[in-house]
Amino acid sequence: MSDCIFCNIVSGEIPATVVYEDDQVLAFDDLSPQAPVHTLVIPKAHFSSLADDVDTATLGAVFTAVRAVAVLKGIDQSGYRTIVNSGPDSMQTVEHLHVHVMGGRKMAHGMVVFSGD
Ligand code: 5GP
Ligand code: ZN
Repeated sequence: MSDCIFCNIVSGEIPATVVYEDDQVLAFDDLSPQAPVHTLVIPKAHFSSLADDVDTATLGAVFTAVRAVAVLKGIDQSGYRTIVNSGPDSMQTVEHLHVHVMGGRKMAHGMVVFSGD
């Protein structure tokens, strides 16, 4: 997927601040952070979103990496919000499956995303 931004981050063609990496997963800081910690966790393999037929091994690897990222960022005890946008109504902008990991401050209560007061 040469036209996919996140595939190009996986291949190193687009630079990113990498937080965590293993065989299946890459995690890097969001370019436009909405919280003191805002890291994206992606499978290295290309899936457009959760609506793709994502295998359970990949899903497991991604969410295990989410936990590792929280520890590395020091927010595992204070807590964090994870968000996965899938498709147009979610306002997904990058069509490569990714989990937002956001923390370091109190989030808005409930399901209001990205705003916090
Ligand atoms: P979405 O709206 O698709 O759930 O989230 C996409 C996220 O990717 C946004 O938070 C946006 O700031 C981030 N993003 C878009 N392009 C880049 C990039 O080139 N590098 C990084 N690190 N993040 C990006
Ligand atoms: Zn991709």
